[in-house]
Order: sequence, then C-alpha cells, then structure tokens
Amino acid sequence: MNHCNFVAYALFVIRLFYAILQSWRQDACVTFSTLMPLHVDDVKTTQTSVLKNDLPPKHQRESTRNIIKTPGSIYLVFLRFQDTNMITKLSHLFLVTLLSIHVGSNRIPRDVEGPKRVSNRIKSGYSSPVQVYEKLDLWCSLETSEATPESCTWTSPDGTVYKVDGDKVSQDNHVDEVVDGILANVTSGEFCHIQVSSLKSEQIGDWTCHLDLGTGVKYQRSTLTVTDKLRISDVRLPGDLKPTTYKVALIPFIIPDNFTIDGHVDINLDVVEETAVVKIHAKDLTIYEESVEIDGKTSNILGFGNDHAREFFLIYLSSPLPKGSTVRLSMDFLGSLSNKLVGFYRSKYISPEGEDRYIATTQFEATDARRAFPCFDEPAMKAKFRVLLGRVPSMVSLSNMPIEKEAQPMDGNATHQEYVWDIYQESVVMSTYLLAFIVSDFKYRQSDPHPQNDVQFRIWSRESAVNRTEYASQVGPEILAYFEDFFGLKFPLPKQDMIAIPDFSGGAMENWGLITYRERGLLYDSNVSSDRHKLYIDNIVAHELAHQWFGNLVTMKWWTDLWLNEGFATYAQYIGSHHVNPEAGIKDKFVLTSTHPSFKLDALETSHPISVEVGHPDDIGDTFDTISYRKGASVIRMMANFIGVDTFNKAISNYLKKYQFSNAEKDDLWQEITETAHADEHLAANQTIKEIMDTWTLQKGFPVMSVSVDLVKGQMTCNQSRYLASKAEQSSRSIYGYKWWIPVSYTKAGGDFVNTRSKFWLKPMDNGSVTFDIEAAESDAIIVNVRQTGFYRVNYDSDNWKRISEALESDLESIHRVNRAQILNDAFNLAKVGLLSYEDALIQTQYLSKEKDLIPWSAALSEFSFIGRMLKREKAHADFEEFLQRSLTPIYSDLGFSARDTDTVLEAELRVKVVGRMCGLDNADCINRASDLFQEWMKNGNVNPIDPDFKSVVYCSALRHGDATHWNFLWDQFKSSDDNFEMSTILSALGCSKDEEILQKYLDLTLDKSSGIRKQDGSRVVGSVARTVVGKDLVWKWIKNNWDQITTVYDVSSHSTAGGFVSYCVSSFNKPERLAEAVQFYETKLTTLGAAKKKIEIAIQKAKVNVEWMEQHYQVIANWLKEQVSSQ
Ligand SMILES: [Zn+2]
Repeated sequence: MNHCNFVAYALFVIRLFYAILQSWRQDACVTFSTLMPLHVDDVKTTQTSVLKNDLPPKHQRESTRNIIKTPGSIYLVFLRFQDTNMITKLSHLFLVTLLSIHVGSNRIPRDVEGPKRVSNRIKSGYSSPVQVYEKLDLWCSLETSEATPESCTWTSPDGTVYKVDGDKVSQDNHVDEVVDGILANVTSGEFCHIQVSSLKSEQIGDWTCHLDLGTGVKYQRSTLTVTDKLRISDVRLPGDLKPTTYKVALIPFIIPDNFTIDGHVDINLDVVEETAVVKIHAKDLTIYEESVEIDGKTSNILGFGNDHAREFFLIYLSSPLPKGSTVRLSMDFLGSLSNKLVGFYRSKYISPEGEDRYIATTQFEATDARRAFPCFDEPAMKAKFRVLLGRVPSMVSLSNMPIEKEAQPMDGNATHQEYVWDIYQESVVMSTYLLAFIVSDFKYRQSDPHPQNDVQFRIWSRESAVNRTEYASQVGPEILAYFEDFFGLKFPLPKQDMIAIPDFSGGAMENWGLITYRERGLLYDSNVSSDRHKLYIDNIVAHELAHQWFGNLVTMKWWTDLWLNEGFATYAQYIGSHHVNPEAGIKDKFVLTSTHPSFKLDALETSHPISVEVGHPDDIGDTFDTISYRKGASVIRMMANFIGVDTFNKAISNYLKKYQFSNAEKDDLWQEITETAHADEHLAANQTIKEIMDTWTLQKGFPVMSVSVDLVKGQMTCNQSRYLASKAEQSSRSIYGYKWWIPVSYTKAGGDFVNTRSKFWLKPMDNGSVTFDIEAAESDAIIVNVRQTGFYRVNYDSDNWKRISEALESDLESIHRVNRAQILNDAFNLAKVGLLSYEDALIQTQYLSKEKDLIPWSAALSEFSFIGRMLKREKAHADFEEFLQRSLTPIYSDLGFSARDTDTVLEAELRVKVVGRMCGLDNADCINRASDLFQEWMKNGNVNPIDPDFKSVVYCSALRHGDATHWNFLWDQFKSSDDNFEMSTILSALGCSKDEEILQKYLDLTLDKSSGIRKQDGSRVVGSVARTVVGKDLVWKWIKNNWDQITTVYDVSSHSTAGGFVSYCVSSFNKPERLAEAVQFYETKLTTLGAAKKKIEIAIQKAKVNVEWMEQHYQVIANWLKEQVSSQ
C-alpha cells in the first residue's frame, strides 16, 4: 500500500460502491456475505457474479467466464444467499473494498505501482478507395464508453486544422467562418464525422483526428492515411529513439474463452534526436494509457494517439526528451492469443486421450513482435532483452536464453499461487523479430554433448511425439558444430532448443536459440516416414541453423535485404545437409530445387529484382518468395563459384566477424568479398563484386547466352539477351538494360567438370558478340556453364547441339550429371520461347532410355510435366503418354517397383519418381501392384504394409482407380493419424479421386473448422484436387462461388494461401476463354485480394504464356510425338 496513489484509490472505491449498488439494484435477493478468492473449480459449484475492473469493456464481455484464472485482476465476488441485515451488508462491503485493493496490487512486478488502468482507444475510419474530386468521409470516436470526448478536430495533410462542433466545421478556430467543401455529418451517428465534398490532391495523405477528453484527462489522436494506392510505404520509425534494453513480462492465459496476454514492458531508450512524440510499434494490443510512464512518471505525458497505417502507438509529451539523454519507458497492456499463427498465438493439438490441449507460441518475422508487446519492431533496432514468462506450474516455458530463475512465485496474493514466473537470462544484442516465447506442456529429448562445444541442445514436441525427435537430436548438434567451423565463429548462445509446433504458418523460423518448426520439419518416425523425409529435415534444420549466424548474428539493416538472409541460408542449407548426409547428392540437386524453379518465375515480366524496396508490412510479407530464397541462393552460389569457393568462405567468415551483433546491407558484404578476392587474386584489380552483383540483384530476369563454336579456329563467340517466357511482355526498363556480368566457364564432353571458376566475362557494356579463344579439338562437344553454377541459360549453334546429343548417346557419363540436367532444362525452355526448334530440343531426350541418374531424370520429368499439362485436353495426349511410357520402361524395369537393400539414396529416390510416373500413366503392372498393397492395408487398417517411400504413389493410384470406400478408408486413416508427415501424404492423395462428388466434399472440408484439416494444410488439399482435369474445373468453380468464405477462413491480408488456390487453376489455363475468365475474376475481386494479388497476377501471366505456347507449338509437338510413337 505504501506505493499507492491516494486519489486513484479514492476513485476506485467510488467505482466499487457504484458497481455494488448497480448489482444490488438489479437483483434484490443478492446480499454480501463472504468474500473469498475463488479458484476455477469453485466457479462450477457456486453461483457467482464476477466483475473484472481493470479490463476494457470489450474484453470484459469476452472473458467473464474464466476471469478468475487471471492473476492480478481486481475482482469482486458476490455470493448469493438470503440475508437482509444491512449491517452485515455494509461490513462486507468494507471487506470487499480492502480485499479488492489487496488483490489489485498483485500485478506484474514493476518498480512503481500504477493507478487504475484506462484505455480510451480511438476508432476511426474513412471511405475508400479514394480518388481525387470524389467525396471523402472521415470519422473518429472513442472505443470505450468510459469517457466522452468534449471536442474534436481534424488536421488535414496540408496542416489545416478543422474544428468540429456539432454540425459546424470551422477552420483554425475562426468560429464564424464556414469552411468551403467540408461539412460535419451528425446524422450518421459517428462522432466527429466530416465530409470532404471534393477531395483535392493535396488532401491525400495523413489526416489526424484529435479528441479532447476534458480537464484532468488527456487527449487522444488517431492518424489515418488517406491513400489512392492500396498500400503506403513510408512506415519506418523516425529513429529519434533507440532501445538498448527491454524487460518484457508476459502472462499468456492459455484458457479457452479467455486467450489473453497480460503484459508489462520497460524499455531503456537512448534519445538520438530531441523529440516530443514517442512512436512505438503496437498492433492489436490494448495499452493501458494510465500505466504509461516515462522514467516512472506520468507528468510529462499530454496525450496518446494511434497511427493505424504505420502500426504506431504515440505518446505526446509536454516537454521534449533532450538529445543525448536516456529514458525509461514503461507500460502495461493486454494482448490476445489469437489463432492467426502470427504474434504470440495459440496452437492446439489433441492428446492421446482425445482432449484438446493448447499451447502459446510465437511467430514474429517479419513485423509481428508488435502484436505481442509494444516495441521498436525494426531489424536494426537491436537491443538486449530480459524476458519473464508467467505460467501454471504444470507447464513449461521457453525463450531464446536459458532460464535464470525458474518458477518464481508471483508476489502478493494467495489467489494466484497457481501462476509462477520463469525469469530468463538477459539476451545477447538482437532484433525483435528473432524473439520467441513459448508456454506449453511439451517434453524434450536432450542431445548428447557434442565434443566440439558446450551448447545444450534439446528437441521439444508434444509428449506423444517425443519418440520422433531422435533424428533431429542427432543431426542438429552435428550441423551446428559444422557451421561453427564453416563460419569460423562459435555459436554465441549457451543453448539451442528446437521445437515442433502443431500449427505453424511457415516451414520453420530461426528464432535465436529457440527454432520453431512445423512438425514435419522436425519429427521423424522410420516406421511411418520415408528416407526422403530425413533429407527434408536435414535441409530445413541446416537452413535454420545457418541463420543463427547469417541473419541472427549479423542482420540485414532493413527488409530490402531479406533476400541476403534467405538466399544465403538456402545456399548454406545444401552445405550443412551435405555434411550429415553426403550420399544424398544434395549439392548436385541444387539446380533442380533452386536454379530451375527460379528460372521459371524469373522469366516472367511479373518477376521482381532480388533486392526490392519495401515498406508496408504486406509488401515485406510478399518478399518471402522463390526469388528471395532460391534465386537469392542461386546468385550466391554463382558468386562463390566464380571467385572460388574457398575465397568465398573466407570472405563470409570475415564479414560475420566484422558485423557480429550488428546490422549490415548487401554492399557491406560485396565490399568484404571484393577485398578477399583481390587478396587471393581471384578478381581483376579494377573489378568489384558490387559492379558484378548489382546487375544480378537490382534488375529482374536473367540472360540466355548464345554460343557459336568454331572448332577449327579454336574460338567461341558469345552474346547475351534477356530470357523472357513471352517476348510480347517486355514492358519494363532496367537500369542495366537487361544486360548482366556473366561469368563464363566451359569444358567439353569428357573434360574437366570440377573447375567452376569463370574463364572469362561477358560484360553489360559489350556491344553485340564477343569472341574468345578456347582450348578444344575438332570433334569436341563444348559445354558452357560448368555444373550450371552460373544463373543463365546457354543456347548453342546447331552443330554443337548435335555433338552434345551424340556424346550423350555414346557415353552419357562424359558429361557431368548436373550438366545433363542443364542440357535438358535449357533445351526445353529454349524451345518454349522459340530460340530452338522443338524437334532439336526433343532429340536431347532420346538418350534417356540409358539414363539411370536421378538428377537428369528429374529435370526431364518436370519438363514433360509441363507438356503433359498443356496436352491434357488435346488429341495428342495419348501419343504423349505412350512416348513417355516407352522412355521410362527401361529404368522402371531396372529399378523395379520395390525397394532393394542395395539401393543408393539416389536410386531409391529415382524409383519413387519413376513408379509415380508409371502409375500416373496407368501402366497396368504399376496400378495392380499399388492396388494390391492398398487392399492389403484396407483388410487390416492397423498395419500399413506400404513402404513409406511409396505411400504417396500407392494411395494416389488406389484412389484414382477406386471408389468411395477407398476414399473413406483413407480419410478415416487421416482422422486417426497422429503423424504430421503421414497426414500430409494422405491429404495430397485424397485429391486423386476422379469422383466429382467426393472432390467437391473434400474442397468444402477446407472451409469447415471442425473437419480436422488445419489451416496450414488448406493449400495442400486444394492443390491435390486441382491436379486432375476434373478437379481443376471443380476447384475453379469452387473458388468463384466461395471466394468470400475462402478469404474469411484464409485471411488474405496476412498471407496469400487463397492466392495460391487461384494459382493452382489459373497458372495452367491455356485457352483464351479461360484466361479471360481469370482476368475477369482478378478485376472484379481486386479490392478483396490483399496479399493474394501478386500470386494471382503471376498466375495470369503464366496463363498468357500458355495460350501463346499452344498457338505456336502444339502442332509441332503433336506431329513429332505421332512420328515417334508410330515409328517404333
Ligand atoms: Zn530462412
């Protein structure tokens, strides 16, 4: 009580009497006999009414049922029984008051007790979309009814102040002057509602509403950004304040019907520039304004505001904070544990006993730490964090650092004995997006100590899945130790936890020292999953561990350089994964999983440069795409190879040491690599990495290099042009004129495929063709771009193409398997755009009957997939299937349907692909074997006889050729499965049915919360249905009919799952009428697309390319296929 503010308590007691009188008046038989703090169990047996005094009204409504579990709340309990003695009533009233005050003091620990909390959040809005010369409506009012504003003004973007008084608007306090073109609209019922009758261009921008709450109480402001665009981009913090340390105390209430977070934050700030307004990020938080203090005081605070568009909470000060000073900012707030998979959110799983269990967990990247606590939520605003997490003793908590003091009692009242604090060690200097908080009932497996370091390594999961954590607990520490050597820097934290979260939006998140994963990214069961699943785990674990240095230790200054984080981690994941599983050939798979998919996207005019200026959180979210990850990784790999991998690795290590615990941008990295490459004499003295790499990062697209070889003269003539999927599309300009610095490496069939350093450069300023001398004999087949380390395509003169196909036919091993994959991928894609005839491209596939390696086969099959998709509804489709089956038959006979003990990893993987394709082509042997296995399983559902590697093929084939009983059997297996990997496999297979009614039902299940299909799996379901001809039509119709519902369930504003749904259909449309439908859909739904917009634009772009392709190439291919099929 000694800290208490007398006035606040006086006010409080008055409120209390009022509350009691109110309830007295409402229920005549209520009397006050005993006041006792209740535990939850008591609620069920006792008639009570509860009043929670320190929550805003909206929250009270939502949370009354479980309020009693909330520690630190001020509440009153009235027990009902008959007693009309007035003296008793009053004595209890006194008791109630005292106890309430006592309970009320049990808050999250902080140095000074604040008075009762009030939050007068402001509501505001405007009519949109906005256009110049049109009418604009603007309104604002208080969210709570606790206070009534006394007056209000609107300030326009040009600084004019409009005072609104009833139905009058006056300008700059000239009361009698009527303002031209601005009216007050009192009839709408909205407070402070004005209409700008004809919007001028200078009125587009920030409008601020200012509400005065009367004497003694502060004012409220809300800033609305009126914009004629979909998004604003100037969202950055002003940088006048820089946080140094945070203390963040959070109690997540993981209780259905409550799901709130009680929070307190203290932030020490350096005042970099004098300022009278504190701007701090906060989203979907209720900040108790009366609790906001600067250096423990409220006296300097004039009012509060919200800038909704920029997600700022604003504190207006009466005297500015002086430059060079340090201040402490503190506040209490209330957040919600939403189910949106962002911020501090809840995830649910079902226990083996069938009970719903909830956990609280976080996902902050890119801009969602601000949903968990008010903070300076930009990557360069690094600080140290002291975290406190409140929990019940039966649960555990986790954060980035180890716990310093565990299970500390919450001070004060006996009522909240059930909650305890875990207090964490202060963190290293880090960015907000890398924080993580988890409260769960999960268990862990601890890895054996690694001989190289003292890092405590634990893998966490729900209890019934802990037996699946063994694989990750072995590879995790191994990769971590390997990266310590690779980067030349020790892992800076004492521990590394990795945890499998049941509901997770991405694949995994690299939170420093506490990496979160989707279950399938971390959990492995050899009885259920295939070997490929291990490789998937290697990759994802290696990716996240690489971030611990590249991203966490050295962080990008701003999200523009996100690609550097993601591109590098993607590049490094191949290196880490190769270390633990060298037989898997992962480094050679790079071209299949990164280079070729990036080519596909980057060939479209809708692509974007790797490095993009971003502002709005939605734009930042959009940049987590293939271009950032895979093209980013591809150009980094190119750079490592053209200067030499050892030189590159040395430069990376220097860079990390130089910028550790701080931020950097791409030019800093270029500088470091240039210096190291010069020192190693791997780069010409007058050349810089920046000059080269800017052409790859600042313009979109990539080149195709045309090569003509003169073997007599020993020369090679090259020139470059942009590779575009559709020539008609080049509409944009580039500062480099779509020319690149191209590192040229070459060899010949039977030559050296080890050296990938560039032998010469093709430069942006070269005019036309450039001729280089080469070492070659007369009959050599020249191969340019050794192991496809350069991010470009190569087209040869027809003689060289011919020599290549001959070399492949006579000795395919004379060309490295990555270059065989390159040749197939380049040939098909050059043909696609008319740079090579389809006949010449298809000739390169004729050697495939001898090919036994996964890498080239994968490249070929993915190109055949495209042709198959285009031909699906055409006459030539039967010939195509016949041709493909003939090409595959030798390898299918060779590998067989079933696994063998002697299989290499790559053979096993190739078998899965070949069998999958053969069953898809309705090969009788394949279908029969698959349905036998499925039948066997159906006979005894408890024992699955199917080799994990073949599950997806067998399930899909059985459903394609089965009926509703097969489908229902598999659906029941999904419902009863506990394994995330198995569940994903089943979801993908359930779309294989040909039965429209079943497929329709299956699609509808993705919109039904109780179906058991998690939101994160919605796109798997829709994608699986859209794979077949029948299914695609169904999905398209379903999207058009259910768009509103789809976007409600899949929340377009925060992610673009719904955009993915559209893309599954539209991206393979190849008829003009279908394309027109897609365009019409895009145009009519434009305002509802949110973050889905970009994905749909790309899909439409692909459809345009398909339509053109059909017109140009269909007949040529149909003729060639007919010839092939009839000639044999
Ligand atoms: Zn990443």
